[in-house]
Amino acid sequence: MGQPLLEINNLQTHFNTERGRVTAVDGISFSVEKGEILGVVGESGCGKSVTAQSILRLFDEKYTASYDGEIKLQGEDLLKLSKANMEKIRGNEVSMIFQDPLSSLNPVFTIGFQLTETIRIHQKHTKQEAYQMAIELLRMTGIPSPEKRIDEYPHQLSGGMRQRVMIAMALACKPKLLIADEPTTALDVTIQAQILDLILELNEELGMAVVFITHDLGVVAEICTRVVVMYLGQVVEEANVEDLFTNPLHPYTKGLMKSIPQIEGNRSEKLNVIGGTVPALTDIPKGCRFATRCEYANDLCKEKAPDLQLHEGHHKVRCWHYADIARKEAVEHAIPTS
Ligand code: SF4
Repeated sequence: MGQPLLEINNLQTHFNTERGRVTAVDGISFSVEKGEILGVVGESGCGKSVTAQSILRLFDEKYTASYDGEIKLQGEDLLKLSKANMEKIRGNEVSMIFQDPLSSLNPVFTIGFQLTETIRIHQKHTKQEAYQMAIELLRMTGIPSPEKRIDEYPHQLSGGMRQRVMIAMALACKPKLLIADEPTTALDVTIQAQILDLILELNEELGMAVVFITHDLGVVAEICTRVVVMYLGQVVEEANVEDLFTNPLHPYTKGLMKSIPQIEGNRSEKLNVIGGTVPALTDIPKGCRFATRCEYANDLCKEKAPDLQLHEGHHKVRCWHYADIARKEAVEHAIPTS
């Protein structure tokens, strides 16, 4: 395999807060190949969105945020780029869509105006050319009668349509990488399925790589090829989708899996929940960060933080006892219950 499209090495994102400096993303590394769809999963507060926004350096670096490590796009470290050069990356090379399209679109301008402005900021086109391109982008993202809808305001569109407009805007400059930060969370299931299909289609047609941020493992199974599981600012497991779903290794990943409702399951069965909550960034446990919620935690876990280690092929896991836990579970499954 050649050079990855995106390569993140030991990235840390720090914020200055009233309670001191906190590190919301702490030493994460992963890569995205050209044309690949990589899922990044975890609960709220695990650092997924901070990771996504760090890639585009969207945080205020003057007063609030700072970064360490490397974010290489086709070999070029984005953290070393000037503000002006970083502007050229945003929208042209890497685009982003967010969870709530209504707050990302300007309510006082038509979607046509916002789309043509986006096109003209990044490319040299006349107003008329950009207008025609905007209609084509709306058509490409499945908006019916784009010639009419282009003159509507965001509030005149449904949630699904608005997300399609955001995707159209993100695609305006044919980026090599689309970062989708929970793009379907605010949508109902039918529209969610349509947006996922659209992202898959565009990925296939345009060869555009996607980093898909979500807390929903069902979505990951549907569209991703590889998955990174994050917990409290760190990667705790990384694997291809099949390996992750057939053989999850980290107790946190296992907990997330068990909390997916099963269609064939017993309806009276209670849905599994991972006890407790993600600790605050100002109160990070000393050893393993998951120890406060892990049923397997022992003294070693509470004292010493495990590293991310390689388990067969490309499967990575950050847990002292993952092999023992797997053995124990295999024995339990092998013993027939009476
Ligand atoms: Fe649980 Fe210990 Fe593994 Fe952390 S290192 S996930 S506490 S078993």
